Amino acid sequence: MVKQYSLVKLGRGYKLSKNITLGEFASKGADGSEPTLVDPELIEKIQQMRDLLGAPVHFNSGFRTVKHNAAVGGVAGSYHTKGMAADIWFGNTFADRIPDEEAARCAEYVSFGGIGLYPGRIHVDTRPGRYRYRKPGKDYITVAGFPGYVPPAAPEPEPIVDPAPAAAVPVRVLCRCGDLIESL
Ligand SMILES: [Zn+2]
Repeated sequence: MVKQYSLVKLGRGYKLSKNITLGEFASKGADGSEPTLVDPELIEKIQQMRDLLGAPVHFNSGFRTVKHNAAVGGVAGSYHTKGMAADIWFGNTFADRIPDEEAARCAEYVSFGGIGLYPGRIHVDTRPGRYRYRKPGKDYITVAGFPGYVPPAAPEPEPIVDPAPAAAVPVRVLCRCGDLIESL
C-alpha cells in the first residue's frame, strides 16, 4: 500500500528506512508542497540491496510529481509518479560504483517486479508481475532476467572455547623495606 509523506512537515532527513531518507526519494524539481508517494515495499527492497551489496545507495530519481516526470521525459503514468519506482546506483563514488550488471542481479535476487539496466544506474519498481529490460543505446530491449547473484556468505560463528582455568598467581605482600612478610 502506497503511503503519503509531507516533505514540508517531516523534513528531508526523515528516515524511510535505516539508510534511506525522504529527501533522497522525494521528487526533484518540486517545492515539497505536494505529498511524496512512497511504496514501503520499494524502500524495503532497496534497503535489502544496500545491505547485501554493502555500499551506499544513490537516487538519480525516486518519486516524481507528474509535472517533474513530464519535464524529464518520463512515460505518462510511470511507476515513478506512483512512488513505486527508483533509479539508483550503489557505491561510495560513481566511478567505483558496484557494476550495473551486479546491481541488476541483486535486484533480481530481492525479487523486484520491474528491473531495467541502464549504463550507470538501474531502474527498479514494484509493479505487479515481472518485467525486465536493458537500455544500451536509445532503445529498450526486453530481456529474460538478471539471474546469478550470490549473496555474501554469513560470517562463521566464533567457536565457543572453554576458558582455561586461570593459573594460580602467588600473592606476595612485601613490607616497605622489601622483606616478604606474607605469601598467600
Ligand atoms: Zn526509472
